[in-house]
Amino acid sequence: MTRLDAVPRTHLAHTPTPLIPTPALARHLGLPAGIFVKADAWTGFGLGGNKVRKLEYELSPQRLDGVTHLITAGGPHSNHCRVTAAAAAWLGLGCTLVVNGEPEDPGRGNALLHRILGARIVSVPDRSDRAPAMDAAARQIEKDGGKALVIPLGASTPRGSLGYAVAMVEIHRQWQELGEAAPGEPPRIVVSASSGGTLAGIILGAALLDWPVPVLAVSADDPSGEIRERATMLAQEAGALLGPDGPSQERILEAARTVEVRDDFVGGGYGAPTPEGEEAIRTFGRFAGVVLDPVYTAKAGAALCALESEISPLVFLHTGGHPAIFR
Ligand SMILES: *Cc1c(COP(=O)(O)O)cnc(C)c1O
Repeated sequence: MTRLDAVPRTHLAHTPTPLIPTPALARHLGLPAGIFVKADAWTGFGLGGNKVRKLEYELSPQRLDGVTHLITAGGPHSNHCRVTAAAAAWLGLGCTLVVNGEPEDPGRGNALLHRILGARIVSVPDRSDRAPAMDAAARQIEKDGGKALVIPLGASTPRGSLGYAVAMVEIHRQWQELGEAAPGEPPRIVVSASSGGTLAGIILGAALLDWPVPVLAVSADDPSGEIRERATMLAQEAGALLGPDGPSQERILEAARTVEVRDDFVGGGYGAPTPEGEEAIRTFGRFAGVVLDPVYTAKAGAALCALESEISPLVFLHTGGHPAIFR
């Protein structure tokens, strides 16, 4: 995959992350083709999760040239804010996090980690206040003689999405390496989705590899149509970054059509626990030793647990989020 390898990035993630068979879970759920967990909770850097792979491309050496500060935004317990703050600290840069709403207890979970990692936190009342507050922070830094790099929500940009095309190359290789142990069918990938960059990278990776894997994306908040649209557009723009060597736009659209996006596990909204999600946390914990987070992977896990008469083996992409357990 030299075409992807040619895109500059800053190495942050500990990869490849393992692809772990979970036979007891598959037996318990009656899914004889098997369940494999792609453990991206363990990308390691800044306590890991999916945002690390995306940031590797957002924070390429070229883009960091002359930069003194990183600015990004999210909720008061954002995983993306945590990893961005860790990257800024490691790179020796300042970091401003624009956070909508106040955490119930700033001494717990990601809110605590944002502070430990030394970020300056600007609280705004609403999601819609985040973008103008990031712009204002960037202007102030420039006025003070610095240079800010603003990283959009979730690092879900075309560039950031490339991180998940790389993850797909890993999964594909790990699937081949299973050899005899690999089930006959290509796997179906089950993944949590929100800002869409992870899903976009999965789509691009499938197109790049010419690997016809069906994907089940499970929304953590937004309506399925919005997530599908966002991820498809990002996949197309990310594909364009690869130039003439990348997959054609038609090929990317074809891969996007194999994606099913579900929003019927969101429940009361972003971060609101659901009975199915809590049950999924107990099931993955008890039968796989795999700990899900309550905001994202619990809802994707609930969708997996609800699959009936599934004939494909499943790859559950664990996107991380562990600090939310300790909010
Ligand atoms: C951000 C996040 C997601 C969603 O990924 P997107 O690329 O924003 O769709 C899923 N799981 C966890 C743990 C996350 O932090």
